[in-house]
Amino acid sequence: MKIYNTLSKRKEEFVPLEEGKVKMYVCGPTVYNLIHIGNARPMIVFDTVRRYMEHKGYEVNYVSNFTDVDDKIIKKAIEEGVDASVISERYIAECKKDMAAMNVKPATTHPKATEEICGMLDMIGTLIEKGHAYAAEDGTVYFRTRSFKEYGKLSHKNLDDLQGGNRSLLVTGEDQKEDPLDFVLWKPKKEGEPYWESPWCNGRPGWHIECSVMSKKYLGDEIDIHAGGEDLVFPHHENEIAQSEAANGKQFAKYWMHNAFLNIDNKKMSKSAGNFFTVRDISEKYDLQVLRFFMLSAHYRSPLNFSAELMEAAQNGYDRIVTSVSNLNYLLENTASEKMSDEEAKLLEEAKGFIVKFDEAMDDDFNTADAIAAIFELVKFINTNVSAESGKEFLQALKDELLMLSDVCGLIVEKKQEMLDSDIEALIEERQAARKAKNFARADEIRNELLEKGIILEDTREGVKWKRA
Ligand code: AMP
Ligand code: ZN
Repeated sequence: MKIYNTLSKRKEEFVPLEEGKVKMYVCGPTVYNLIHIGNARPMIVFDTVRRYMEHKGYEVNYVSNFTDVDDKIIKKAIEEGVDASVISERYIAECKKDMAAMNVKPATTHPKATEEICGMLDMIGTLIEKGHAYAAEDGTVYFRTRSFKEYGKLSHKNLDDLQGGNRSLLVTGEDQKEDPLDFVLWKPKKEGEPYWESPWCNGRPGWHIECSVMSKKYLGDEIDIHAGGEDLVFPHHENEIAQSEAANGKQFAKYWMHNAFLNIDNKKMSKSAGNFFTVRDISEKYDLQVLRFFMLSAHYRSPLNFSAELMEAAQNGYDRIVTSVSNLNYLLENTASEKMSDEEAKLLEEAKGFIVKFDEAMDDDFNTADAIAAIFELVKFINTNVSAESGKEFLQALKDELLMLSDVCGLIVEKKQEMLDSDIEALIEERQAARKAKNFARADEIRNELLEKGIILEDTREGVKWKRA
């Protein structure tokens, strides 16, 4: 399995630190709003990386944080006149709903920054002790960037170029820095903001320190994969490396993976320009499995353009797989022959070739575009080789293969048709009301609708009874 490593700028063979295990950290969202479709890209992409690794037999410890203390959260809390935690808890819950609808597995651990302050104080203390950080007069703690000799190794930037081109790094209020390149680890509280006590001042952490600390706590000093969107390479991930490696004295992450950006109509997503969608917006028009399919239809390191036409194409592509599965289900229910014929056994052997193609694509830095092409080839193969005469064993084996590959991509392609009891009862009530109003056409329509879903109604003296067919 090869992974493109931002650190070396090339594809490298994946060798885990510990055999059979993968320790993976993915930078999560700042929770002050519903997540947008750009945030959904790393969620879906790295969830698919995780699923593929699990499919290969690795045990994956997957950690993804929620940044729940931040200027934007505080601003929103002030606007609404509530505590910052009310805002962050609200949007963590909403984010988890969106993740579930996109079939993104919950992480092994979803730490929150505000619950990890102790660890942050410890790491900042260590960095000061080792001479990698210093507290300024007002209690702000800065990382001494030049003290970490390898600074710039991830973003492939040179410290002197950075300094030359970035006088603006010296922003107002930060004039106590020894060097414009130094960055904040801890900052003093402002009026009305949440704060924690620390040896330096009452305040709150800088953003970068949270990931270094959470990764260390839940995965250890050295991890296999650290991932996020490409905008995080600099400064966020560069700073995480500096903090973690300076504090722990070990290589922080072996492989650094970054997804390219999602644009809308070939432009950067922007609320003010009106080209901005939340995942929730998309869910009003599409099943979020279609959004997932759309995200995986491109390689994660290629920029991806979101447009109505491409979503329609994704809908069609996704439907092709779903239709093939439901066709197999229909044949499975209706075929008379049980056993697999010799010819079917041969065909099945041939169909295994699509698994090989799928794996080859995924082994090549998770090329989901080619992996999905392999699924389509399988769909085509199924559609041309099954019929009402096919044996059950053959049909089931093809269905298992199609479901397995779809599942590695996290695509739910077999819709559970079963209706919930509460939905059935609501329709029965509506039918009763229609009958009372002498709207027999609607009443019959509802009876037929239920029948189609396998629900049989019986009008008895005690009222309407129903059963599943
Ligand atoms: P944020 O909440 O801004 O920290 O972003 C959470 C994650 O979403 C990070 O990994 C970002 O890199 C990623 N991200 C944000 N916007 C986009 C976008 N338009 N396309 C792809 N990834 C994005
Ligand atoms: Zn991070």
